[in-house]
Amino acid sequence: MRQWTAINLAKLARKASRAVGKRGTDLPGQVARRIDKDILRNLAEKVDDVVFISGTNGKTTTSNLIGHTLKANNIDIIHNNEGANMAAGITSAFIVQSNPNTKIAVIEIDEGSIPRVLKEMTPTMMVFTNFFRDQMDRFGEIDIMVNNIAEAISHKGIKLILNADDPFVSRLKIASESNVYYGMKAHAHEFEQSTMNESKYCPNCGRLLAYDYIHYNQIGHYHCVCGFKREKPKYEVSKFTISPFIHLTIGDTTFDMKIAGDFNAYNAIAAYSVLRELGLNDASIKNGFETYTSDNGRMQYFKSGSKEAMINLAKNPAGMNASLSMGEQLEGKKVYAISLNDNPADGRDISWIYDADFEKLSNQDIETIIVTGSRAEELQLRLKLAEVNVQVIVEKDIYKATARTMDYSGKTVAIPNYTSLEPMLEQLNRSFEMRENQ
Ligand SMILES: [Zn+2]
Repeated sequence: MRQWTAINLAKLARKASRAVGKRGTDLPGQVARRIDKDILRNLAEKVDDVVFISGTNGKTTTSNLIGHTLKANNIDIIHNNEGANMAAGITSAFIVQSNPNTKIAVIEIDEGSIPRVLKEMTPTMMVFTNFFRDQMDRFGEIDIMVNNIAEAISHKGIKLILNADDPFVSRLKIASESNVYYGMKAHAHEFEQSTMNESKYCPNCGRLLAYDYIHYNQIGHYHCVCGFKREKPKYEVSKFTISPFIHLTIGDTTFDMKIAGDFNAYNAIAAYSVLRELGLNDASIKNGFETYTSDNGRMQYFKSGSKEAMINLAKNPAGMNASLSMGEQLEGKKVYAISLNDNPADGRDISWIYDADFEKLSNQDIETIIVTGSRAEELQLRLKLAEVNVQVIVEKDIYKATARTMDYSGKTVAIPNYTSLEPMLEQLNRSFEMRENQ
């Protein structure tokens, strides 16, 4: 009775919040959790498999690739694909999407929410992408976070799908007896080298890790005198190319994807590993992988006639470096629109832009860089310090700045931070729609 009341009040709350123009992703969960504190546990028990996706970067893409591929194979799922990745949002997804046919839940979960959510329910499988320094992170905090996660998931019979190439992710093997590793062969792809100085210390003993091969940052083939080492992957990328989309070879199969950005190859192998562990074969995975396009501003591609654009969210140095690399992989002339807001949701401290590698813009053929958002001048200063020898225009209105890139023949490279994403994406959609209708 309590659960019935909770679910129906939650659905009402969702209707009400949608009626006033809100997306209503967290509210149903908040309402239901207040009435029935066991609601998440009870709803989660009704599905056979619950897959959690977590990590610093790439969890949305990984989760969406898994979700899209299952749906492309006519499998009903519960999926928090609106980025509601904390306890209330996850509860909302279970309430709104549960039906008697649904046997799999695909849930993106914020790293920080793992201890809380794991107290309420136990997933059958968890996949981790990577652990990088985020905005305010200081040296050593990754180790603390990884240990907290390990403690929360420890010995609950969860199958862990781990990135063998990331020592921080691989460290989580201490928390389970059932670990499946994915990774990338040495020389599978020349990643854009980053100058960012990640800590490359052994998560087991603290000594400096030895690397036979580095893909980027701390991601590669490592070992330590204490015995901690890269585990042998069950699923491994042997080769991939970018043009600007990813062509990814795993075993005997090449997947011609519609997503860009070399970092997404890791998200693809993470998603592939989950899908194989759920029982799908390569042909079924191809159905999903070759029809998936991003629509959330993460490595999203636009084209109309001769004009092309890419947009990628960047809210920390790793995200910014990935976005600048994306620009580098696009052949020919480019016009950049880079936006930096400092709203509370962005984090007021924007000093992370000094850890990002803007210097690499010097190697690209750039017509103009338009800086925008409430802290546009800070970006202008950062570019000056990077000695990027290109015209820089300050246009604080994000819509106007984005629209102006359409006046250039080069490819638009749009890089918004968190609260800049929506206006930038909205304007790109509008500009490309207008070109199509001309
Ligand atoms: Zn060690």
